[in-house]
Amino acid sequence: MERETSDFEKWLKETLKEVAPSSFSESLATVAHSLYRLFSARVRFAEMLGRRCSFIAGEVSDEPTCTLPDYIQLTENIILIVDAWGKLGNEEKEKLIKFLKEVVKWKRLQQEISDVASVEKILSGDEDSLLRCADFARRAYCGDAVHIRGIIEYSNICSRNCLYCGLRKDNKNLKRYTMTVEEILDTAAQGFDNGIRTFVLQSGENDSEPPEFLASVIKALKKNFDVAVTLSAGVKRAEAYRIWKEAGADRYLLKFETSSPSLFKRLCSGSVLQNRLSALESLRQLEYQIGSGSIIGLPNQTLSDVAQDIVFAKGLDLDMAAFGPFVPSPHTPFAKCHPGDVALSLRVIAVARLLLGDVHIAAASSLDALAPNGRQRALSCGANVIMANLTPESYSNLYGIYPRQNGSSSLKRITEIVSHLGYSIASDRGDSIKQFRRRKNGKVTQRS
Ligand code: SF4
Repeated sequence: MERETSDFEKWLKETLKEVAPSSFSESLATVAHSLYRLFSARVRFAEMLGRRCSFIAGEVSDEPTCTLPDYIQLTENIILIVDAWGKLGNEEKEKLIKFLKEVVKWKRLQQEISDVASVEKILSGDEDSLLRCADFARRAYCGDAVHIRGIIEYSNICSRNCLYCGLRKDNKNLKRYTMTVEEILDTAAQGFDNGIRTFVLQSGENDSEPPEFLASVIKALKKNFDVAVTLSAGVKRAEAYRIWKEAGADRYLLKFETSSPSLFKRLCSGSVLQNRLSALESLRQLEYQIGSGSIIGLPNQTLSDVAQDIVFAKGLDLDMAAFGPFVPSPHTPFAKCHPGDVALSLRVIAVARLLLGDVHIAAASSLDALAPNGRQRALSCGANVIMANLTPESYSNLYGIYPRQNGSSSLKRITEIVSHLGYSIASDRGDSIKQFRRRKNGKVTQRS
């Protein structure tokens, strides 16, 4: 008699989560052990070497090599040897083989990523296989639910002059604004009523805005709604970050934009990369959940620079990551430059999922500025987070980092994107996956 399929489905889901942080051979050992324990199925995994095979993991044999018996091919050279199917029925066998093929491909590819050169090679390799593996990895680390964050662009005033950004202070074509606390609260109330449980307060890097302003907004949000608050207001003194943390802020998004110090210096005139990294360090010390990332396809950026950005992001031990293509913005020195490549941006997201593992990864809104369904495609190759723009239209039209279509990020449109993919929408705050895992494992949440 076949076991209930639902039991087996449950096993697949649990095993997927279990193998997520493991290496290639550890994953296969985990699967084999679990199959034996729960279903009395005895399987081995081996690598084919001509007419012989080399044992990788499994329940029965611990011999280093064995003569090639009957087997099921999982990939070109990895095979499954079944000594006993135990309690598994035909339908379950089929599902198991499909699942194992995905696990083997994912873990093999993950194993290949070790440094900038290997990331660069994967970025230029077989796209279909990469995107499929990243989607499988996303399900393993994050499950099927997508987190929708509600962004409120509360001010477009900026004291910097980044060459690519429409908010740069020298752009005199932009009418500047800062929303009042009341306007921000009204906007948040509508978002909360529609299910938003994370608000992202975003602005330019405004040197003249006192930290007390944002602190009062954070306090009011925390008092009125049971939500997480993410800030994205640029590089500030550590004192400002401390004031906001004490007011109740949970997370901070500060993209490093590019990990190349020379490129950064050219792009963000007047700023240096090290200041941004020091700011990230201050935020880490204050125990914010940290998000960062880079822009893909900036003028004079090489593929090696892009690969370096992904490896660099890994070193930051992020809770959230965001990689999006460069979009030329009118009234900036880069207005006539070529935009970033959407296909490359999707491959970057995919590699980031494989390398960074248990982080939230955003489907950047800049993708939709360059290609229809850009964000939808990102959610199919590693991303698990998407931003809905809650900013009232009269202000969001003035938040011109780059040109974007009216309504393309409305909550209605974002919900459609997620539903179209058949994913569910997460109902919780969507805090750091890493911190959750650390707590579950009984480890301290602070990073060392
Ligand atoms: S990228 Fe940020 S800091 Fe630079 S001009 Fe734009 S808003 Fe200001």
